Amino acid sequence: MKKQFIIANWKSHKLPSEIEDWFVNFARFIGVKNESQEIIVCPPFPLLDACLSAAKKHTPFVQIGAQNISRFPEGAYTGEVAGKLIKSFATHVIIGHSERRHYFNEDDKILSEKVLAAQANMLTPVFCTLQADDPIPLGVEIAAYEPTTAIGTGQPADPQEVEGIARSIKAKNGVSYVLYGGSVAPQNVSTYTGLPSIDGVLVGGASLDPQEFAQIIQHA
Ligand code: PEP
Repeated sequence: MKKQFIIANWKSHKLPSEIEDWFVNFARFIGVKNESQEIIVCPPFPLLDACLSAAKKHTPFVQIGAQNISRFPEGAYTGEVAGKLIKSFATHVIIGHSERRHYFNEDDKILSEKVLAAQANMLTPVFCTLQADDPIPLGVEIAAYEPTTAIGTGQPADPQEVEGIARSIKAKNGVSYVLYGGSVAPQNVSTYTGLPSIDGVLVGGASLDPQEFAQIIQHA
């Protein structure tokens, strides 16, 4: 079976008091997971440690990812979180999400510096692209195609269009895996994971509920 990545992006949601419950319930709903699936949960920075502990206890197959990384190394960069610290908790990091590009003005140069910072710290970047011709920095293995019209709108992208764009991202950039993201739900996930050039999904809203996230994984 082809390898699949199912990634939860919790964005700026959840509190420390909610973490244990999420993992206990996720463990209950997921049952036995398919060996070919890699499950990665990306909480906000202050919850990385709690998620790592809860995952070890209840769902040891779940890996933890960050949603952002400083483009700078450890040092005098107030408010930033360096890769050296992130790697104590996480294996992956989302870079280039449309919300980071839009609200925080992260451009191609900044994003390529973030990829370098991740690579320097042995963190695997999950690099988000909004369209087929967004540049993808060298060495990125996992890209996520997330059209802005589909993110958080309840209107997922047309599967045929997704397939064409994923194929072109792979051909142009040599990335090994392309995920789809944008309003993924248990009812539509297989439409995307069934596409020849798609290797998994990046899930925002629906990953906040452990039962819904488990159903997405089961139907993927
Ligand atoms: C996302 O933010 O990466 C995302 C895909 O969100 P949603 O699933 O809520 O559309």
